[in-house]
Amino acid sequence: PARTRFAPSPTGYLHLGSLRTALFNYLIAKATGGQFLLRIEDTDQSRTVADAERRLYEDLEWAGIEWDEGPKIGGPYGPYRQSERLPLYREYTEKLLESGHAYRCFCAPTRLRELAELKKKHGIPPSYDRTCSHISKEESDDKASKNDAYVVRLKADSIYPQYKDLIFRKQGGVKIHKSDKEFDDPILMKTDGFPTYHLANVVDDHLMNITHVVRGSEWLNSTPMHIALYQAFGWQEPKFAHISLLVDKDNQKLSKRVQSANIRTLREEGILPEALTNFVALLGWSHDKKSDLLSMQELIDIWSLRFTRGDTKVTFNKLWHLQKKHALRYLEAPAYQREASLRTIIEHVVKPIVSRCDAAAITSPEEYSFYTSIEKGLPRQKYITKMVRPIIASRQYATPQEFISKNPFFFTAPNRERLEEHMPSMKLHEVPSVVLQDFSALTVVGSLKAFTNVKNKDWNIVKLAELRKDLIDVAAMTTMQSFKSGDRTPEWQLTINKAWGRLIHASLRWAILGGMKGPDGSEVMSALGKDECLRRLASAVE
Ligand code: GLU
Repeated sequence: PARTRFAPSPTGYLHLGSLRTALFNYLIAKATGGQFLLRIEDTDQSRTVADAERRLYEDLEWAGIEWDEGPKIGGPYGPYRQSERLPLYREYTEKLLESGHAYRCFCAPTRLRELAELKKKHGIPPSYDRTCSHISKEESDDKASKNDAYVVRLKADSIYPQYKDLIFRKQGGVKIHKSDKEFDDPILMKTDGFPTYHLANVVDDHLMNITHVVRGSEWLNSTPMHIALYQAFGWQEPKFAHISLLVDKDNQKLSKRVQSANIRTLREEGILPEALTNFVALLGWSHDKKSDLLSMQELIDIWSLRFTRGDTKVTFNKLWHLQKKHALRYLEAPAYQREASLRTIIEHVVKPIVSRCDAAAITSPEEYSFYTSIEKGLPRQKYITKMVRPIIASRQYATPQEFISKNPFFFTAPNRERLEEHMPSMKLHEVPSVVLQDFSALTVVGSLKAFTNVKNKDWNIVKLAELRKDLIDVAAMTTMQSFKSGDRTPEWQLTINKAWGRLIHASLRWAILGGMKGPDGSEVMSALGKDECLRRLASAVE
C-alpha cells in the first residue's frame, strides 16, 4: 500500500494543476489500499493568502478527495501544518550540524548579493562559494551563542546523486552533475529559524512515511538535491513521480490567472465534481478502457501509473463534453440511486443557474417576468430542476450562463415582436393551399382547446405527447375530408399527416418558445406547467 501526500502551500487557491496533483496522489493511495495525506506547507508566511487554507479544504472536499490524515482530522504523524512543526525542523537541523552534513553560514546578505553579481558577470550560476564551510565547529558554536545571524546550509557533494523518476525514467533517470568548482550548498534553515521548503519537505515526507512523492515537474530539478538531503540524514528516499506541465492551446503554461483554470470559477459555472475529476485525471494519464467517462470509483479501479511525459494541453471542450455525459448518467440513474443523483444535480448544476439568474441575468423586470412570477407558485429550484433534464438531453446545456442565454423562453414568454418575426413557415406545396391559410393560428387555436381540457394533475410529458398526436390525426382527417374522394389515397394520407405533424410541432414551439431550438416541446410544456402554457398559446393567437 502506498502512502502519498498532497502538500500545497497556502499561497493561492486550488486550480486545475494542483487539483490534478492531489487527485493522482489520492488515486495511487486508494488503488493500493494505502493512505492519502494532506499537509500544509506554510513556512513562507510572507506569501500566505489568508483564506487559501480554508478554501483548499472546501474545494478538495467538494471534489470528493478526502484525506486519511491531515489538518482538521489529525492522524498519527501530526501536526500536519508545517508552521506547527518548527521544533522538529530545528531538531533535525541540529542533527546535520552534529554529523557535519550541514554548517552555519554567517555571510551577510550584502556579501551574498555581491557574490551573485560577480558570478552573473562571469556567467557562473549564483551558488554559494562555501566560505563559511571552513569555519571551525568551535568558532561556529561561539558565534551562534553570541546571537550572530546565520543560516544553515547543506554541505552538498559536488555531484548530486542520480535517481530514477517513475515518469522520466525512460529517459535513463535524471542526472544532475555539477562541476567540482560549482558547489551549491542550499539553505536549509533561514535566519528567522524557519526551515526552507527543501528541508521541511524532506523531513516531513520521511517522518510521515511517505512512499510516493507525486508532484509537478517544476520540482524535477530540485529532486537530486532532496535526495542528497535524504542521504545526509541516512534515510531511504521515497519514489518520485513528476507529472507533466499543463499548457493552454498556445502551449503556454496554464496560468493560475486563467479564470477557467480556477476550481472556484468552474464550481460557479455548475460543473459536477465527478465531471471535473474525470477531466483532470485524463490530463497526462492514460487507460485502456473504451470510454473516457469514468467516475471516481472507476478511476480507482483501473488506476495504474500510466503518465505521459510531455506537456499536456488543456482543452475545455472536453470538460463540458464529460459534464453532459456525467449529468445524463445521474439523470438516468437506477431507481435506488435516483434521489441521491437528483440531489447531486440540484446541488451542483441547478443551484449555480439559480444564483446566476438572481445575480446577473435578470436585468429588466419585464424580460424575466415569468421567471419571477413562478417564484410564487413553483419554486425556482424546482422549475430549473425540471428544465435541466431536457436541456442536458438535447445537448443545449454547457454552462449556467449558456443555459440562460440560449433558453430565454424558459424564463419569459416570447413577446409579440418575437412571435411575428418567427412565424412558422414551411414548404407545404403538396398540401392544398386553401387548407393551410392561417395555419399557425388554426393549429394554435386547436391546441388551445385540446390543452384546456387536460387536468392539472395529468399535465405530464406522456399526456402532452399523446394530445399532440391526436391533434395531428384530427387535423389530417379534416384536410382529407376536403379532398375529392378519388384523391384520398394512402400516399396523400401519409403526406398530409407528415405535414400536419411538422406544422403542429412548429406552431407549438412558436407559441411556447418563440420558435427557439432546443429540448423536446412536450418536456418543456410539462415543466412550464398548464397555466403558463395556456397563457402563451392564447397570447400567440391574440
Ligand atoms: N509545497 C510545495 C508546492 O506547493 C510542495 C511540492 C511537493 O509536493 O513536494 O508545490
